[in-house]
Amino acid sequence: MARQRVSHVKGPTDATDGSGSLIVRLVVVIACVAAVGAMVYRARGLEMPVASVLPAPVEGAPLTTSSPGPAAGSSGEITVSPQASAESAALPSIVAPTLSPSAQTPRVGIVSGHWGHDTGAECEDGLLEVDVNLDIATQLVQILLSRGYEVDLLQEFDARLHGYYADVLVSIHADSCQPFPDANPPMSGFKVASVIDSSVPDEEMRLVTCMARRYADRTGMYYHASTVTPDMTQYHTFYEIDPRTPAAIIETGFMWADREILTQQPGLIAQAIADGIVCFLAGEETP
Ligand SMILES: [Zn+2]
Repeated sequence: MARQRVSHVKGPTDATDGSGSLIVRLVVVIACVAAVGAMVYRARGLEMPVASVLPAPVEGAPLTTSSPGPAAGSSGEITVSPQASAESAALPSIVAPTLSPSAQTPRVGIVSGHWGHDTGAECEDGLLEVDVNLDIATQLVQILLSRGYEVDLLQEFDARLHGYYADVLVSIHADSCQPFPDANPPMSGFKVASVIDSSVPDEEMRLVTCMARRYADRTGMYYHASTVTPDMTQYHTFYEIDPRTPAAIIETGFMWADREILTQQPGLIAQAIADGIVCFLAGEETP
């Protein structure tokens, strides 16, 4: 389902009749007033009431904020170029990040794998990956909320994922329920991956490292590197979210060999994932 688009303020290039120069002058005046207002607010250490002067965010529109990323993201940062000509001053030189993470409260997105879409892996006795994932994800959300984070619990193809901008996003899945009796190494263990062509490679490397180390520490499970596939590194959600949002997918274990810990200790699995997210957000060392 497409979200409703919101209209935004037209720029001066939309004016093609004789009233163009008047509109430009008017917008310049408004821009100047906004700039002075911003300086006054900054000088007084106040938050600028951005909603009154900024165009509303448009879904799918490129974010033109000068903010380097979520870590520095703050709602309603206002930039007015000192070299702005009359024409460019009237262009949207006042920009605001949309769906910006809060500088104070980290915002975390948790995708419960397959939820709202399909079953995922299936075991012969009817155990479904989608249920295993949701059990873990709901407990993870509770842990993260109790730490004071803002948390979005998301479905596999949640409409909110389009352009999703947060401090971190993690998608939770579990692996096949086939026995693979001859597999070497055995089909047991977990793995974590981020997108193959990352826009924030350093952050995502740190996220994956944090998650893998903390998960292994908490669960005692092995990292099953040989089964990291394009399904993970080219996971569809990575291409739907805002590319500045550091994101990872975790396969929590194999539903055959690791069934006991996945189904009997979902709270432990949730805590192990939370450990990794906290490690990343808090900038913890990962030895
Ligand atoms: Zn899955």
